[in-house]
Amino acid sequence: MNRGLKGLEERVLSQNLCISCGACLSLCPYLRSWQGRVVKLHDCGLDEGRCFAYCPRIDVDQGSLQGKAHGKDDRDVVMGPVRAILMARAKDPIWRQRAQSGGVVSALIDFALRKKAIDAAILTLRDTDLLPKGRMVRNREDILTCAGSSYVSGPTLEALHKGPWQEEEKIGVVGLPCQALALAKMGTTPVEKKGSIDKVNLVIGLFCTWALEYEKLMVFLKKRVGEGCIEKMDITSPPERLFKIKMADGLHSLPVDEIRPFIRNGCRVCFDMTAEFSDISVGTVEGIEGWSTVILRSDTGEDLFKKAEGEGIIESRPLPEDHLNHLREASLLKKERAFIAIKERKKQQIILQKP
Ligand SMILES: Cc1cc2nc3c(=O)[nH]c(=O)nc-3n(C[C@H](O)[C@H](O)[C@H](O)COP(=O)(O)OP(=O)(O)OC[C@H]3O[C@@H](n4cnc5c(N)ncnc54)[C@H](O)[C@@H]3O)c2cc1C
Repeated sequence: MNRGLKGLEERVLSQNLCISCGACLSLCPYLRSWQGRVVKLHDCGLDEGRCFAYCPRIDVDQGSLQGKAHGKDDRDVVMGPVRAILMARAKDPIWRQRAQSGGVVSALIDFALRKKAIDAAILTLRDTDLLPKGRMVRNREDILTCAGSSYVSGPTLEALHKGPWQEEEKIGVVGLPCQALALAKMGTTPVEKKGSIDKVNLVIGLFCTWALEYEKLMVFLKKRVGEGCIEKMDITSPPERLFKIKMADGLHSLPVDEIRPFIRNGCRVCFDMTAEFSDISVGTVEGIEGWSTVILRSDTGEDLFKKAEGEGIIESRPLPEDHLNHLREASLLKKERAFIAIKERKKQQIILQKP
């Protein structure tokens, strides 16, 4: 089996399973990001390559990867490694005003930079045209420009490969579960590493049920809400379940079912809702405005969070039990859906292969 670009093309790109995380970009001249998609420009003769080794959509034994990445496999089977689960928010309103939920992600990255736990971070900037891209940040102003969620997935991790980085620099990365998984693969692959993964010493993962495909969503939104600049997007909790889009001309609300056709195919086979390969995972707290759900997963994550709380940057509370149960349920449901989708794909492949 080819474990290079040819293998990646056969198993991911041609199967429409790529989620455009950016892990394979800027490593070689043959792959490029275009309009939210990864496109192959040329064939590659190598039997083995980093594009294949880093791709989160190439199947992997997650237990052993978790063990390699964290030193031991101490996973909770539903939620990955867990030290503590709580709800939290940034104390300074500057973060909360611009952020998606409690501003915990932005405030922690700012804190980590100020404390020199990291020298730079890779965040995601949602441009006015909705297409997200990785952005290296080193100060508060740049963190603020990246605050908030883009429900379109984009090649954030390309910025890690691009750098440029200084010799001893330490990097923090904020990303989706697929991007946190790609980082774990980068750190543990036997394929020659080269590049910046050894500099990454903090990963903050975002909860994610699914992300949307850029091109199809744009065509739909132009027709549905017009062409103005999108200032913020949000998805409200059930039973309302609306996709809310804040634009210069006001707030547009669409039923989430209208955007489901634009969910990336690659998200349908993803097992991870809570970014299990992170030091800290952050999501919203459904029904409690302005707070984030936080999972502390590693020494690094726990240490950073506790220091930030100790210095009054973050405040936390226990997560109510019904929210905790709901989170476990949602996480398990994503795994079940992925399992069914993968089984279905395998069945189709067997049918296609029959003479
Ligand atoms: C595609 C997507 C799906 C999500 N699905 C869920 C869900 O199902 N349930 C849930 O509870 N939470 C979900 N979230 C997470 C939630 O929207 C917030 O990101 C999270 O609560 C953190 O809020 P905050 O106020 O602390 O973050 P902020 O302080 O606002 O920081 C958010 C950070 O997210 C990063 N970011 C934004 N868009 C992207 C992107 N497309 N790719 C990578 N990084 C990005 C930015 O770099 C920014 O630093 C999702 C987020 C995304 C991007």
